[in-house]
Amino acid sequence: MFGSIQVGRILGIPLRVHVTFVILVLLIGLGGLLAGGPTQALWSMLFVAALFACVVLHELSHSLVARSYGVRVESITLLPIGGVAAMEEMPRSPREEGLMAIAGPLMSLAIAGALYGVMHLLHYAGPATYGGQPWLRMLVQANLIIAGFNLLPAFPMDGGRVLRAVLASRMSHVEATNIATSVGQAMAVLIGLAGIFVFKVNLWLVIIAIFIFVGAGEEGRQVRVRAVLERITAGQAMATRFETLPRDATLAMALAYATQGYQHDFPVVEGDMIVGVVTRQDLLTGLHHLGAQHTVGEVMSTNVCQVPPGANMADVYRRLAQGTCGVVLVREADRIIGLVTPESFREQLLAANGSPAGPS
Ligand SMILES: [Zn+2]
Repeated sequence: MFGSIQVGRILGIPLRVHVTFVILVLLIGLGGLLAGGPTQALWSMLFVAALFACVVLHELSHSLVARSYGVRVESITLLPIGGVAAMEEMPRSPREEGLMAIAGPLMSLAIAGALYGVMHLLHYAGPATYGGQPWLRMLVQANLIIAGFNLLPAFPMDGGRVLRAVLASRMSHVEATNIATSVGQAMAVLIGLAGIFVFKVNLWLVIIAIFIFVGAGEEGRQVRVRAVLERITAGQAMATRFETLPRDATLAMALAYATQGYQHDFPVVEGDMIVGVVTRQDLLTGLHHLGAQHTVGEVMSTNVCQVPPGANMADVYRRLAQGTCGVVLVREADRIIGLVTPESFREQLLAANGSPAGPS
C-alpha cells in the first residue's frame, strides 16, 4: 500500500505501518504530554501500541485461516482506522470465506476475554497493581468495540463477508455480492450519518463510512468483472492482427511506426523470437530520457507472459492487474497467435455489459 513502511514479519507475513498511523501515535503521545506530562504521554502511547497489537492479532487470524485454504497473504498494514490484510484473492467457497471473515472478530472477543481475566487477577492481587486496571479496562472495551463493529453486516467488513457467504450458499456468487454490496453501502450511509449527527461529527466514523462505501462498490465491481471474464478464454479475447517491432530499431523509427495505428503494446522480436514487450508510452519515455538513436531493446520490458488459447481470461486479467506482465502473448504450439492487452479487456467488458473497465 502506498505510503506504508515494512516494520517486520509475523509468521512470514510482512507487517507494514502506514505513515498516517505513525503520525497518529506521535500526536497521541504529544496530547498526553501536554495533558499530564511524560508519564501520561508514555501510558497513552503504550495504550495505542497495545491496541494495535490486538488489531494485528485480529488481522493475523483472518490471514492464517485464509492461508490454510491456500490463499497467499501479501501483507498486513496498520492504518489509523484499523488493520488491512491484503490477500492475493478471497477464498471462493462461501464456507471458506465465512470462516475466514469470522476468525477476526472471534480473535478480538478472545483477547477481550483474556484481558478481562487478567484484570480480575490484578484486582485480587491487591491495591499495588490497581493502577493498571483502568488501562486494561479500556483495552477490553476497545477489543469489544472492534469485534462488534466488524460484525456489522457492512460489506466489505467482516460481518458483510459473513453475510455474503451465507447468501452465496443459496444463490450465485455475483447475486450474493450484489446484495451484500447494497446492504454494505446502506450501512455505510447510516454509519456516516450517525458519525455526523449522533456522535457530533466523529471524523473517524465518517472516514470509515467512506471507506466502506467505496470499498463495497469497488469489490462488487471486481466480482462482476470476474464473472464476465470467467466465461471468456484468451483465444476469444486476443487481438490476432498485431504488429511487432525489431529489437534493434531506433526509438525514433519505432515511435514513428507505433503512432500510425491503434496498437498500444508491441511484442519485440529478434529473428523469430519474441524477446520482450514495449508500450507506446515506453517508447515516448525512452525518446525523452535517452534520445532518438537508442534502441527498442533498451526500453522494452523482458517480462513476457504467455498463455495457451484456452486460458481463462479471469486469470489473465489478474496477471495484468497485478502488473506482473504488461502484455500477455497467446501461444499455440511454437507460434504466437495473438496478443492480450489492457485494451482487450475494455472491449470485452463493453461488449459483455456495456460498462468499460479493466486494469489501468
Ligand atoms: Zn476483520
